Amino acid sequence: MFRRTKIVATVGPASAGPERLAALIEAGVNVFRLNFSHGSADDHRAVAEDIRRCASEQGRIVAVLGDLQGPKIRIARFRDGPVTLDNGAAFTLDTALDVDAGDRHRVGVDYPALAGECAAGDTLLLNDGLIELQVESVRGSQVNCRVISGGELSNHKGINRKGGGLNAETLTDKDRRDIVLAVSLEVDYLALSFPRHADDIHQARALYRQAGGQGGLVAKIERAEAVADPDTLDQLILAADGVMVARGDLAVEIGDAELVGVQKHIIRRARALDRFVITATQMMESMIHSPQPTRAEVSDVANAVLDGTDAVMLSAETAVGEYPLATVNAMARIILGAERTYQSRLPEPVAEPGITRSDEGIARAAMYLANHLEGVQAILAMTDTGTTPRLMSRIRSGMPIFALTPHAATRRRVAIYRGVQPLAFDSAGLAPEQANQAAVAQLLQRDLVHPGARLILTKGDAVNQHGGTNTLKVITVGDAGR
Ligand code: PGA
Ligand code: MN
Repeated sequence: MFRRTKIVATVGPASAGPERLAALIEAGVNVFRLNFSHGSADDHRAVAEDIRRCASEQGRIVAVLGDLQGPKIRIARFRDGPVTLDNGAAFTLDTALDVDAGDRHRVGVDYPALAGECAAGDTLLLNDGLIELQVESVRGSQVNCRVISGGELSNHKGINRKGGGLNAETLTDKDRRDIVLAVSLEVDYLALSFPRHADDIHQARALYRQAGGQGGLVAKIERAEAVADPDTLDQLILAADGVMVARGDLAVEIGDAELVGVQKHIIRRARALDRFVITATQMMESMIHSPQPTRAEVSDVANAVLDGTDAVMLSAETAVGEYPLATVNAMARIILGAERTYQSRLPEPVAEPGITRSDEGIARAAMYLANHLEGVQAILAMTDTGTTPRLMSRIRSGMPIFALTPHAATRRRVAIYRGVQPLAFDSAGLAPEQANQAAVAQLLQRDLVHPGARLILTKGDAVNQHGGTNTLKVITVGDAGR
């Protein structure tokens, strides 16, 4: 069975290198994430080249997503290695302390404004929430805390404030350099960490385009401010091409209990606003050290699939885990299981009324026919930019959407959309009926459709025109074109 929901896998020491990447591609990874928080430019360049080569050797279409580190506020370093913080102990974050001088009483912080932005009573969470500190007083450069929930603390762990509001500028100098790196790697998507509002995305997009980047922008939703009110979130979603429910940081800022409802809301809004959505972080966390997922992890992945996410993401599981391949295999199996249930194919009413563009009207009409006309086996969208398949993939369906395009960049871009399968196809020089026949012949040859099946075909009169889709045809395999 054809898997609709896509898998994003983060590359790291456990997955880099041509053999391991090739195995992960074969297991079904659709998108690789290069995490610019770790590794050198040369590491990322080698990985990007390996991905492209392995994908083309296997005849697969795999996209690359470059993920900017963003302004994650971090502690500095400890003089003698990791320390253990005991519950009830005093611990000070000191922005003036030497970066290597940390011990179990104090540690430096790479964000000079911290003391100015914290106040007595704040809760600070370190290491993705594993350590909880309560601010008791702020003096000069020192934020004096009480350890509420202790544990081991090592160099460079992140700091979040519960409720959000630590306001580091969204694009750091490192991010600006990494945007240039992302352009030279020709990534298909660029993810922005910790955007506060739509303007952060507009600014990143402007820099990325100036540097010559052509990929799509992904807004990582991971700040309390980004989900504080529905309008800010909608504007943020609309400013980007897709979003990531970045649960690692988001859970720490808004609380893990609230996260589930917020995740569902983000998925719903992204789909309604014609943007794709990736659900990320700790989806198969136990598989970092175990060859089997827990029941809760199976449930987490399946629920995201049932809610309509375009993709589910693996982080440490594939970057540093012991079982990267088993994790991808397990994830693919869980996705297919969830997609087999009736509920995941149930057509839903179109959420947003008012259609202004012809390609959107065609896309919605095509999905209506695919879901309700008897005997339909697939949708064929001849596309230049991938817009029509994206619009189609916002509507729930069990039908495969084949995106036929001559452009390799478009094929990689659509690889993240739920239910969309990219195929190389060039109709240049063919009369319209010949083009239809050639498209159907290609699907028949690959055994993707069967004689006698009905297909829904969409295309534009003008080739190579953005948003040009204006034609919808119902054809039967065997007499295509008529
Ligand atoms: P990160 O983003 O892995 O870059 O922190 C994802 C998240 O916060 O969940
Ligand atoms: Mn994050």
